Amino acid sequence: MLNQRSLGLGNQPNKIRELFAYGLQRKAQIGADKVFDFSIGNPSVPTPAKVTETLTTLLREEDPVALHGYTPSAGAAETRAAVAESLARRFGIDAKPDQVYMTTGAAAALAISLSAVCSEGDEVIVPTPYFPEYGVWAATAGASMVEVPCRPSDFQLDVPAMAAAVNEKTAAVIINSPNNPVGSIYSAENLTEFCDMLAAKEQELGHPIYLISDEPYREITYGDEVPFVPDFYEHTIICYSYSKSLSLPGERIGYIYVSNKMANAAEVTLAVQGAGRALGYVCASSLFQKMVVACVDEPSDVEAYRANRELLTGILDELGYEYIAPQGAFYLWTKALEADSEAFCERAKDYELLLVPATCFRSEGWVRISYCVSSETIKNSKPAFAALMNSYQRA
Ligand code: PLP
Repeated sequence: MLNQRSLGLGNQPNKIRELFAYGLQRKAQIGADKVFDFSIGNPSVPTPAKVTETLTTLLREEDPVALHGYTPSAGAAETRAAVAESLARRFGIDAKPDQVYMTTGAAAALAISLSAVCSEGDEVIVPTPYFPEYGVWAATAGASMVEVPCRPSDFQLDVPAMAAAVNEKTAAVIINSPNNPVGSIYSAENLTEFCDMLAAKEQELGHPIYLISDEPYREITYGDEVPFVPDFYEHTIICYSYSKSLSLPGERIGYIYVSNKMANAAEVTLAVQGAGRALGYVCASSLFQKMVVACVDEPSDVEAYRANRELLTGILDELGYEYIAPQGAFYLWTKALEADSEAFCERAKDYELLLVPATCFRSEGWVRISYCVSSETIKNSKPAFAALMNSYQRA
């Protein structure tokens, strides 16, 4: 008999992908320039030239048998060393290659980390709104999600509410900063308050609570610092990806870093390796691991996103939309003009505006606008945003 959970998941529509597919269909029907697709988080900035040059050189000059061969399960020694050295250099920590596990993007990093630290019946706390796949990966690990809304005023962590959600079943908390879908960065002050609370709960309950920090947008920021979570909390596991920072989402490359500040780092690292093995996430792309060695400190090109952010917020300010000023990532969290965000997004479609409702992120009353699009799309969307606003003012 088929696995019923897998069958159910396969059957469950992914609403963001559906909206994206609808956009492609509409573009074919009425012309690409008439559809304002703000649905998906696919980087719109080209991959840095250094990445392309490195890949070209590797393909031309390396022995193809070695280049395309298996690496050790956790990754090539030189790649894990390059990542550890980069972390050590940038954050002043004593990172060791052993604590790095190369993965196929942040998705695999998160699925592995959750399976490493959760057992059947455990709970994982997550602030809402959040990237919805977390729930799928937690369930694979046998854990259930406990959702705690962020502070409604600024979408920082609501520490008293998070504290109230912690209990003896809590195995992990997932945080994501810069955040998808809000674009917020948790401040050092907010993180200090939150991590102090979590450490006190660990003491009280007598077991570690792992803080899984999902960081695919770490480099995409507009002036604010992204605090380095291991500086705030002992039991931190970082899930990183090059999907957004180097515009490589289709290539599936990232890593897990188990903070060496935790006393049981060696054991957690073994559990990460075991979970990777159990899930079949071993030997990430050999070619892209070699790319990481050469490009580990390659900066992200955020200027196009910064320009889009200015353009979009300028338009929305002029029209009177409310939003959370984005500090990072390439999403604008905008207040829907009615309580039901799905109804609002349906109405937006009448004006060929494709926006993602808050319900896709287990929240309500807001929408996500992905501004990783061409600046033309943003400029040309102004009349559509104006007409959408007018349609509510008429009502
Ligand atoms: N976490 C968040 C918050 C994301 O937005 C995404 C992708 O959009 C992922 C994880 C998965 O990233 P990856 O492409 O590296 O698997």
